[in-house]
Amino acid sequence: MNVISQVQINDWLKEIAVVMSKDKDYLSQLDAAIGDADHGVNMDRGFQKVLGKLESFNGQDIGAIFKNTGMTLISSVGGASGPLYGKFFMQMGMALKGKMELNLEDLKEGISKGLDGVKGIGKASLGDKTMVDVWIPVVESLNESVNEQETLEIAAAKMVEAAETGLKSTINMIARKGRASYLGERSIGHQDPGATSSCSIVKVLQGIIVE
Ligand code: ADP
Ligand code: MG
Ligand code: MG
Repeated sequence: MNVISQVQINDWLKEIAVVMSKDKDYLSQLDAAIGDADHGVNMDRGFQKVLGKLESFNGQDIGAIFKNTGMTLISSVGGASGPLYGKFFMQMGMALKGKMELNLEDLKEGISKGLDGVKGIGKASLGDKTMVDVWIPVVESLNESVNEQETLEIAAAKMVEAAETGLKSTINMIARKGRASYLGERSIGHQDPGATSSCSIVKVLQGIIVE
């Protein structure tokens, strides 16, 4: 399979909602260690809202689905992660405007523009212990896969490896952005909650690609 269909994109969003609901307590516990213990609650609330609206996105192109997803997250999730994930999906939506299916290059382009949006408002760099420590390596991996003309399946497997390595790397980082940065060196030793939810989102994406 060389393309991701609009139906698969819907499945990605549906499955993210399932995983965020399942991981709600775990994500909030990670946030309890270095933040305010609400990341799981935030993600679950946001994606339940997205889930509730998915049917009304039916028949729309992938760009519009992502844009609506982003707007829904912004309006339903407070804190840092609402605007950041909201921007991620909105920018991805703008990059993929009008598309009814995605090839590997489209996927790379969408996620890359989403990451640019997150960096644009959050100003985090690699190594600041945030979600971008997952998305930067994912975009690099997808770029390489595009250059090597790999299949979507192979690219997805590599993308997940990159995400997992990025996620683990946050454990030993000092947080320099967001609430966790107030802890300074005491943030060392804890895995970043937003990087954790991002890694799950990437894994679910692989799931719908190899299905
Ligand atoms: P809040 O910190 O407002 O309670 P959440 O707990 O939902 O919001 O989300 C926290 C996550 O948001 C962090 O674990 C981190 O990954 C991400 N984050 C925080 N600030 C930034 C930023 N400036 N850039 C990128 N990601 C950030
Ligand atoms: Mg929090
Ligand atoms: Mg909060």
